[in-house]
Amino acid sequence: MSLIESYCRSYIWAGANTITKRTLIAWDRMCLPISAGGYNLLNIRIWNRAAISKVYWDFAKKKDKMWMKWIHTYYIKSQSIMEMDIPQQASWMVKKIIEARGIIQQLPTAQLNQSSIKHIYLGMLGNHSRVTWRALMFHNDARPKTRFTMWMQCHGRLMTTYRLAKWGIQVNTMCCLCNGTNETHTHLFGECSFAKAVWGRLIQWTQIQVNTNHDYAQKMAWITTKAKGKSCAARLLKMVYAEYVYGLWRQRNSRIFEGTSRTTEQVAREMACVCNIRAQGGMRARLQQLRF
Ligand SMILES: [Zn+2]
Repeated sequence: MSLIESYCRSYIWAGANTITKRTLIAWDRMCLPISAGGYNLLNIRIWNRAAISKVYWDFAKKKDKMWMKWIHTYYIKSQSIMEMDIPQQASWMVKKIIEARGIIQQLPTAQLNQSSIKHIYLGMLGNHSRVTWRALMFHNDARPKTRFTMWMQCHGRLMTTYRLAKWGIQVNTMCCLCNGTNETHTHLFGECSFAKAVWGRLIQWTQIQVNTNHDYAQKMAWITTKAKGKSCAARLLKMVYAEYVYGLWRQRNSRIFEGTSRTTEQVAREMACVCNIRAQGGMRARLQQLRF
């Protein structure tokens, strides 16, 4: 199971089916619900234990199936399944099922009342505090790779040159978009003059009322507040923001790795074009009335 998980993890971070230890966000974190800052991936180790616990739960509650009657007759023998000693002569599988009582005991009652594998699994994941930017991830019509880049940006885990330098890697830390200062996370997506010009152009196009002189923290606070819900305005804002983050990151990578550069107008136009294509229903009708 660890091997399967290693392949899944490696494929996400390296795009290849060879195992690598390179990860930017821990796998357990990626398996949390989106509201808790995860990516809602399935943690197969925990799911497996949840599935065994479900069998144990059926064991303890239902005695009408033939094989359960058999286990009750031969091993449990009217004892309390919660407290009995684990029978040493029982098979590996039966021992594992009875050992799952430890998991069941730790679950909140609400999870037990549902008694489905999913509810036990969610109970085993535990309660995690919700991230402030969770609304950006729900009902966002941006492309999957774009949402993933935005998710990384919200975690502050994109590999900016400043981060690389902090790890001791010799790189030029100057922002390649404005050549003004170090390429930190807050600079690249907030204070950079190039980023501000692109964001301002997108705001002008969408006619969203916002102060374009916000610093990074103010911008994130404003966006996460306005992105709540499924309204046309909220969905448009979070899609535009996701495409903005992805487009900026791509432009930055093009300058560093390919030596090609585009103007703020070209970058913003491409983002607007993608948004027009991705928009659905009322949002599409709204965008078609706007001129870039
Ligand atoms: Zn800059």
